[in-house]
Amino acid sequence: MQKQNYQKILDKTLEEIRAANRHPSLLLHACCAPCSSYCLEYLSGIFNITVFYYNPNITSEPEYRHRVNEMRRFLAEFPAERPVHLVEGEYDPDAFFDQTRSLEKEPERGSRCRVCYQMRLKRTAEEAVRQKADFFTTTLSISPMKNADWLNEIGAALSAEYGVPYLTSDFKKRGGYQRSIELSAQYGLYRQNYCGCVYSRRDGSADTAGTENSMHSAKTGSGVTAAGAEGNPAGPGRENSMADAGTDQWASAESRKNDRSASDNNVICTVTRLADSKTQAQPCVH
Ligand code: SF4
Repeated sequence: MQKQNYQKILDKTLEEIRAANRHPSLLLHACCAPCSSYCLEYLSGIFNITVFYYNPNITSEPEYRHRVNEMRRFLAEFPAERPVHLVEGEYDPDAFFDQTRSLEKEPERGSRCRVCYQMRLKRTAEEAVRQKADFFTTTLSISPMKNADWLNEIGAALSAEYGVPYLTSDFKKRGGYQRSIELSAQYGLYRQNYCGCVYSRRDGSADTAGTENSMHSAKTGSGVTAAGAEGNPAGPGRENSMADAGTDQWASAESRKNDRSASDNNVICTVTRLADSKTQAQPCVH
C-alpha cells in the first residue's frame, strides 16, 4: 500500500479553509504543553481552537496535574492568533488499565499504544460531537515515538462513526518536532522524559543514561534531556521529571502492582533535576 503523505493532505485542507475565508472550530486533543506548542503556533490563526486535555493513560496523578498546569500556563502566556480555550476531560486511570489489560509487556509503539490512541481519540470525537466542533485531531503525531499511520487511521474511522471530520495530520513534518523543542525552551515548559503510563516509565527507566527513552528526551549523549542540555530553560526549581516525586499516588491497585514489580526488578530511573542541571541515576522509590 502506498504511504500517505499526511502533510500534503493537511496542506490541501488548510488551503481550502483559507480560500473560503473562514475559521472553523477545531477540538485539539493535547497530551502536554510541549507537544501543543507547535500545533497551536501552526493552527491558531486558522481555527478557533479548543484544547482537550484527556489523558487517563498518565498513571501518576501528580504527573497528570503537573502536565495540565503547564498546559494552562502555556495558554496564558502564548500569543495565539485567535483565542484558545482549554477543556479538561475526566481523569480515570482505571479505564486505561481496563483497556490495556494483558498488554503490559508491550513496548512503546506496540499494540498497547494503539489501544491508548484509540481510547483518547474516541473520547475526543465524543467531545467534538458535544461541542459541535467542525474538526477534531490530536497533537500526538508530533512525537517521533508515535505512529502517525495509526493515528490517522483511527481518526478516519472515528470520523465516519461520529460524523465529525478528522483533521488528517502528521505534526512532526516540516520541522514541527524541532520547533516544539524551541518553543518549550522559550516558554520554559516542563518536558517529561517518559510518555505517560507506568509501562513507559518502567521501560524508559530501564534505559541507561545517554539513550533516548522517549520523544521528550533528546539525544544529548549525556542522559540530560534537551531542556537540561540547553541551559535550564525550565527555570530554577522546576524539575524536568516527576518520576522521583515521593508523593506519587498510584491510581489503582493494578498500577501499584506493576510499579512494585518494576521495583523488584531493580529498575534504574534516570532523574533530571533542572535546578542544578544534573542527571542522576538512582533506584526507583515507590
Ligand atoms: S507508552 Fe504512551 S502511548 Fe503507549 S500506552 Fe503508554 S501512555 Fe499510551
